[in-house]
Amino acid sequence: MSTPRPLIAGNWKMNGLAASLAEARAVAEALDREPANGRVAICPPATLMAQMASALKGSAVRLGAQDCHAEPSGAFTGDVSAEMLADAGARLVILGHSERRAGHGETDATVAEKARAAVRAALEPIVCVGETLEQRRAGEAVKVVQAQVAGSLPDALEGHPFSVAYEPVWAIGTGLTPTTPEIEEVHAAIRAALVERFGEAGRVAPILYGGSVKPSNAGEILHAAEVGGALVGGASLKADDFLGIIRAL
Ligand code: PEP
Repeated sequence: MSTPRPLIAGNWKMNGLAASLAEARAVAEALDREPANGRVAICPPATLMAQMASALKGSAVRLGAQDCHAEPSGAFTGDVSAEMLADAGARLVILGHSERRAGHGETDATVAEKARAAVRAALEPIVCVGETLEQRRAGEAVKVVQAQVAGSLPDALEGHPFSVAYEPVWAIGTGLTPTTPEIEEVHAAIRAALVERFGEAGRVAPILYGGSVKPSNAGEILHAAEVGGALVGGASLKADDFLGIIRAL
């Protein structure tokens, strides 16, 4: 498998109305003028998928989704399948975000099923893992993250593009970030787990960092060892901030 380029993915979460598409267009236009040193994706809420697909058409910015159901279709009121997202133009999907693990009871097994669905629909999964503050304080960060990697990544990912996002729960939306050595320690542990599990493919899958990434800290984070990009929440909502992070690649 060829080495995937680094990835900066913007997670809009439950934010964005039609008027917000202007921010995505501004990112796409800026990257048209001066291409990014890696891949860029924007993951809007499901309501904006179709309009975002039109807004990004012909640009280098990929469309991503924030979650998918494991089944392709059926009686699952309110859910959206991987096939539906691909049909709407998505190429990537975030899975196992801590807000879904905590707020929707998603387990490693649920996330693995969703990752299988993503592969079935030819979507590239971004599988999120990360420890809570209590777990970090107890010295369990590496152990927790390695267990999440083992349980959330199905064998079906072998031979397919995917990435893992290390997102410490306590760093998401808080303005707090781990130190660079702390990020490097966990990323190295994730890499070791990926190589043990997937061999050569595990050596090239990007490992993104996520949690309070902003233009002012992006340079240091993105150049840390084994950091292959970023998953960006709040700072992806404004074109200038998101571009500031992209330009740090
Ligand atoms: C996220 O939710 O994936 C995230 C990283 O959020 P923020 O950048 O706002 O901390």
